[in-house]
Amino acid sequence: LVVSCISSGGLLVYAENVDNNEKIVERSRLDSKKRKKIVVLGTGWAGTSFLKDMDISSYDVEVVSPRNYFAFTPLLPSVTCGTVEARSVVEPVRNIIKKRSGEIQFWEAECLKIDPENHQVICRSTVENLVGENDFSLEYDHLVVAVGAQVNTFNTPGVVEHCHFLKEVEDAQKIRRTVIDCFEKAVLPGLSDEERRTNLHFVIVGGGPTGVEFAAELHDFVHEDLVKLYPSVKDLVKITVIQSGDHILNTFDERISCFAETKFQRDGIEVLTGCRVVRVSEHSVNMKVKSTGEYVVVPHGMVVWSTGVGTRPFVRDFMEEIGQGKRWILATDEWLRVKDCPDVYAIGDCTTVDQRKIMEDISTIFEAADTDRSGTLTIEEFQDVLEDIIIRYPQVELYLKSNHLFQVTELFKDSEGNEREEVDIEGFKLALSHVDSQMKSLPATAQVAAQQGSYLAGCFNRWEQCNANPEGPRLFGSAGRHAFRPFTYRHLGQFAPLGGSKAAAELPGDWVSMGRSTQWLWYSVYASKQVSWRTRILVVWDWTRRYIFGRDSSR
Ligand code: FAD
Ligand code: MG
Ligand code: MG
Ligand code: MG
Ligand code: MG
Repeated sequence: LVVSCISSGGLLVYAENVDNNEKIVERSRLDSKKRKKIVVLGTGWAGTSFLKDMDISSYDVEVVSPRNYFAFTPLLPSVTCGTVEARSVVEPVRNIIKKRSGEIQFWEAECLKIDPENHQVICRSTVENLVGENDFSLEYDHLVVAVGAQVNTFNTPGVVEHCHFLKEVEDAQKIRRTVIDCFEKAVLPGLSDEERRTNLHFVIVGGGPTGVEFAAELHDFVHEDLVKLYPSVKDLVKITVIQSGDHILNTFDERISCFAETKFQRDGIEVLTGCRVVRVSEHSVNMKVKSTGEYVVVPHGMVVWSTGVGTRPFVRDFMEEIGQGKRWILATDEWLRVKDCPDVYAIGDCTTVDQRKIMEDISTIFEAADTDRSGTLTIEEFQDVLEDIIIRYPQVELYLKSNHLFQVTELFKDSEGNEREEVDIEGFKLALSHVDSQMKSLPATAQVAAQQGSYLAGCFNRWEQCNANPEGPRLFGSAGRHAFRPFTYRHLGQFAPLGGSKAAAELPGDWVSMGRSTQWLWYSVYASKQVSWRTRILVVWDWTRRYIFGRDSSR
C-alpha cells in the first residue's frame, strides 16, 4: 500500500530561491515514471550528508533506517559520562528532511535484503507493536547503501554477552548507568577490599580514538565528580586500556600517541600494549601477552569493547550475490558505484573505494600523453596531462608531496640524478614505479562518510548536465567516458580529546598541536559541526552546565 501511494505521483508544488527573488515554481508531474527513484539506506553521517545536499526537484527520494534520528557520534564518549546529554547529540531525521516540503519520504525500518536483479530492497519495520504488516519492499532506480558498519568482536567468546559497546546512543546511555552501578555496588557493606576493587576496575579493550577518548572521559568523571560522592572507595578505582598493537592511537602521528601515553601514565590510567583479549566472562578478562605467550586473567567490574568495525550480515549476503564474497568489505570504484552492480552506490563505513593502480594503466597513459606519437614523452607533454592523471590517480599527488617534489621534472631524473628532456616508455614506468605505494584505504571516519555523501549528491544533482558536457578526466581508457570527476578525499585533520581539558590534534600540513588550547579548538570545531542550531545550543549548554555544576551522577 505504502509503495503504491508514493509511486502514484501527482501535482508537485515547490518553492525555489532564484536570484534572491522568491519565486513559486509550479510543476506538473505528468509522468511519474520520468522521475527516477532513489532509495537511501541509513541516516548516519554518510546518508544524512547525502540527503542534505541532494536537490530533490528531479528525483523521488525515499529513506530507510531503523533509527529515526541522526547521531553525532564524535560526542558519544561524552554521553557515557553525562558530560553531554544523549538528547543533545541526536537530530530527528524528519527535522533534517522537512525543509524539502515532504518530498523526501522516510520509513523507520531496516533493510533485510538487497535484490539487485529486480532493483528492489526488502525491509522490515522496526517500530514496536505495529498493527499491520511488518515487511515491505521498495523498488529503486538508484540505491544508495549508507548503512555503516557493526561492532567487530573477532568472534572472541563472551564479548557479546559481557561487554559494552560504544557505537550507538543507547550504548552510551547504558555505559553511563553501569559506571554508576559499579560505584553503588562497591560501597555496599560486607564486601572485601578485593571485591570493591574488582567492581571498580574498568577495562577498555582497544586503544583507538574511541577507546582512548572514553578512557579519558571516564577518568575525568571519576576524579572530578564521583570521588567526592563515594569518598570511601576513591583509592580503589582503576582504569585499564588493553591494546593489541604496540601503541595506543596508532593511526595518529607518533608525537600524539606518545603524548597520550605519557598523559595516561601520569593520570594513573594503565595502558597494556601487545596484549590480545581471548575471552571475556562475567567478572574477568582473559588475555594473551604477545611477547611472552602467557595468559593473564584480570578481574573487572565492567568492560567496554571498542576494537574496530565489521560488515553487517545483509551487506555480506549482498556481496556474496554480486561476486564480492571473498572480500572483507564492500568495494566501489572511484565514483562510489558498487563494483559489478549497476545502479547501486555505497558510501561511508560500509564500503571501501577500490583505487586503481597507475601501473595497471601505464601504457595507456603513455600513449594518450604522447600526442605527437614520437614514442617518447617530453616534459611539456607530461605536464599537459598531469592534472588529469592526478584526478584519476590521487596517489600521484600524495607521492609528489611526500617526496617534496614540487616540479615534475624531478620525476624524470635518470639514475645519476640528471634531469632529462624526455623519456621513453621504460623511463616513464621507472619514474612512476613507486607512486602506487602511496595508496591507502580511507579511514572509517565521519569525515570520509560525510564527504562521500555530499560528493554523491553532487553527482545526482548534475546528472543531465554532466552527461551532456562531461567534466571528468577524458584522457584514459574507459575512465574517459565518465561524466564525473572521481571522488577525492580531503583530510581536514583529526582530534583526540585526552581528558583534563587537554586534547591533541593533527591538522593538515604535518601540524600537530596538544594541550589546553587544542581542547578549546576541539570545543569550537565540534560546536560548529553540529547539524542544527538546536543541537548546537544544547551541546554548548551541556558543556557550560558541567563546568558550573559538574556532571549528573544519578542513574
Ligand atoms: P553510521 O553513521 O553508522 O550510519 C549508519 C546508518 O545506517 C544508521 O543510521 C543506522 O541506523 C542505519 N542502518 C543500520 N542498519 C541498517 C539497515 N539494515 N537498513 C537500513 N539502515 C540501517 N569519526 C570522526 O571522523 N571523528 C570522530 O571524532 C569520531 N568519533 C567517533 C566516536 C564514536 C563513539 C564512534 C562509534 C564513531 C566515531 N567516529 C568518528 C566514526 C564515525 O561515527 C563513522 O565513521 C561514521 O558514523 C560513518 O558514517 P556512516 O554513515 O557510514 O555510518
Ligand atoms: Mg549513513
Ligand atoms: Mg552516525
Ligand atoms: Mg569507508
Ligand atoms: Mg612525444
